[in-house]
Amino acid sequence: MSNDENSPRIVGRRRESTLERFDVAVIGAGIAGASLAYFLAPERRVVVLEQESETGYHTTGRSAAIFVESYGNAVIRALTAEGRDFFGAPPAGFSDAPLWRDIDLFLIGTAGQEETIAARYEEVRHQAVGVEVADGTLFEARHPLARKGVVKSVLFDRGAKEFDVAALHHGFLL
Ligand SMILES: Cc1cc2nc3c(=O)[nH]c(=O)nc-3n(C[C@H](O)[C@H](O)[C@H](O)COP(=O)(O)OP(=O)(O)OC[C@H]3O[C@@H](n4cnc5c(N)ncnc54)[C@H](O)[C@@H]3O)c2cc1C
Repeated sequence: MSNDENSPRIVGRRRESTLERFDVAVIGAGIAGASLAYFLAPERRVVVLEQESETGYHTTGRSAAIFVESYGNAVIRALTAEGRDFFGAPPAGFSDAPLWRDIDLFLIGTAGQEETIAARYEEVRHQAVGVEVADGTLFEARHPLARKGVVKSVLFDRGAKEFDVAALHHGFLL
């Protein structure tokens, strides 16, 4: 493999001193490639190829980093929920820091949107841990700067988290 400026760099897990033989080449060392390589590495010789000089340079480094089981369609919600156990209790040595912290997450509705909020709650409540419907006073109590009386109804997701993306990403790669 050439090492000129425009060639992908090799990052991540190396199971052999030589890089000429591997079973799987993962293209891209964002969170998708890094995590895929991490889970394949115990069973396969894996190489991760990254075009940039550092990992996480693109979308992974720009994420709002929120974990929300009440977000997206049913497939997205199911995939999100599948990650909860791993992120909450990663393998020993994966990261020195917790991978996430609790946050309050609200889907807010103004006058006339109460039914939309209620319908959303019915749609997601079986997949999302800690989701509930409340009136706008809960939101105002948590956000004192919010204009009073504007928010009429909320979907409050108590199970939402904020990732430490660097800790998660490095855990997969290092
Ligand atoms: C503003 C914003 C907010 C977001 N907020 C959230 C959020 O709150 N919660 C959430 O879950 N998700 C969020 N996302 C989505 C999330 O960040 C992405 O889904 C995720 O980072 C995508 O990871 P990736 O590995 O697929 O892509 P990337 O991080 O873009 O990684 C792809 C990598 O592949 C490399 N690459 C591409 N082509 C080649 C090639 N030919 N050879 C070598 N390397 C190559 C690139 O250089 C790059 O490093 C957000 C995204 C954005 C932009």
